[in-house]
Amino acid sequence: MSELRLLALYPEQMNIYADRGNVIFLRERCRWRGLGFSYTAAGIGEGFDPDAHDLIYIGGGQDRDQLMVAEDMRRTKRDAISSALADGSSLLAVCGGYQLLGSRYQLGDRRIEGLGLANLETVREEGERLIGNVSIEVDLGTGPRVLAGFENHGGRTYLGSGAEPLGRVLHGNGNNGKDGFEGVLRGNLIGTYLHGPLLPKNAWLADELIARAIE
Ligand code: GLN
Repeated sequence: MSELRLLALYPEQMNIYADRGNVIFLRERCRWRGLGFSYTAAGIGEGFDPDAHDLIYIGGGQDRDQLMVAEDMRRTKRDAISSALADGSSLLAVCGGYQLLGSRYQLGDRRIEGLGLANLETVREEGERLIGNVSIEVDLGTGPRVLAGFENHGGRTYLGSGAEPLGRVLHGNGNNGKDGFEGVLRGNLIGTYLHGPLLPKNAWLADELIARAIE
């Protein structure tokens, strides 16, 4: 039977705005279609087998949660994530999880080192948090589609050279409220600021991730 093997990273720490709803939605979507679904969680101090998962997921978190998991993530999970991606697994990272894919999250004098899996960096700048409803236009190779969600982040993310955004902002702020980009897309790696939770709000994206996993 075709099966989606999902790995959730730090589900206890990295789950705000009900980001775990993305996991529940993937499970139910598979069940409704007669597809298998397996769920594994990897928390603090836990490694994982890079060959055993089709989709790796990490949700959003407060700055203090990100501080708590960042060093652990680099130490216990970075190499496995990298090798899973190289072997065709997908990665979906939301907000705080997305920020940790980059090289750093700079909060004044404090620097949270990221995984360096995408060429981007996040900086907490002067000014209001970027909060509100967002819509973006994306194309994952199947034509232009819209993603809708909710953002709430103090960090501003800037893509480095060669990094592609997930989409272009139609409404809201996106990565930094300035350049019109939202998220990052690199092969099967997707990072985005969109909560909602994202997948129940945008069922087509859940289906795209499931299709990639069982292909
Ligand atoms: N703590 C991060 C920020 O405020 C991410 C917040 C989130 O995941 N919603 O920028």
